[in-house]
Amino acid sequence: MRIGIDLGGTKTDIIVLDDAGQVRYRKRCASGQHYAATLATLVGLIHEVDAHFTQAFTVGIGIPGTVSRRHGTIKNANSTWLIGQSLDADLHAAIGRPVRLANDANCFALSEACDGAGQGFELVFGVILGTGCGAGLVINGKVHSGINGVAGEWGHNPLPWMNSHEFQSRACYCGRHDCIETYISGTGLSEDFYQATQQRLSGPEIISLMQQQDSDAQAAFHRYCDRLCRALAHVVNLVDPDIIVLGGGMSDIAEIYPYVNRHLAAYIFGKECETKVVPNQHGNASGVRGAAWLWP
Ligand SMILES: [Zn+2]
Repeated sequence: MRIGIDLGGTKTDIIVLDDAGQVRYRKRCASGQHYAATLATLVGLIHEVDAHFTQAFTVGIGIPGTVSRRHGTIKNANSTWLIGQSLDADLHAAIGRPVRLANDANCFALSEACDGAGQGFELVFGVILGTGCGAGLVINGKVHSGINGVAGEWGHNPLPWMNSHEFQSRACYCGRHDCIETYISGTGLSEDFYQATQQRLSGPEIISLMQQQDSDAQAAFHRYCDRLCRALAHVVNLVDPDIIVLGGGMSDIAEIYPYVNRHLAAYIFGKECETKVVPNQHGNASGVRGAAWLWP
């Protein structure tokens, strides 16, 4: 049995997973909006589980950021109050046992690799396509986070094979232009539709129009899928995963899969692609389940 926690910007989920992957306990509460409150929330949740089961399980936590190997503190977190904090050391001191922290996209990939859409595959690349874009790499059932903790952060590589309309057209919060994230996130689809039509619609609204055969929405969706193919082709050319699992809001769009699986090979060196791009199996629970699987 193992405890998994998904520390989100607004909500924190905790589960207890048994060895068969069944959820034996779950709870959700508000995340603290400053560091002391976040720490108190996590410690309180873990103590509740310990008391409920009268024994202590391993603890894995998915965080919206990563742990710097150089400093032992959290970096790249969009919950900015976590940045620079020694969360694992502070938790270890508070609960009396070590915890494992991992980026939430890495937890997603691990969950799908352990008992989801990537089960049984050696090399699984998991991508979360939501308001932003995160990804994680799992090799033989273990997260590969990398010496800099940035493995899978290809959302901040530039969009491959940009055309003249795309070049220098999107500013990214990371300080650069034309990051993959600015095109293949839900926000990216919305921005693309706005640039083409001057209409500000959300990702789901554009997809709904596309499904009603609206030609502007269809064109935007095709541009979206083509950019997703280009972005994933770079991943295939670099690490050649056995399977690519999509998560996040955009992954619910069924039309993505036939398009990408038909056209991805055209961008890959040699023009052959055995790698399938598939939807996730655990949906929103992937983050918290993957956190639990951080311990063997
Ligand atoms: Zn960026």
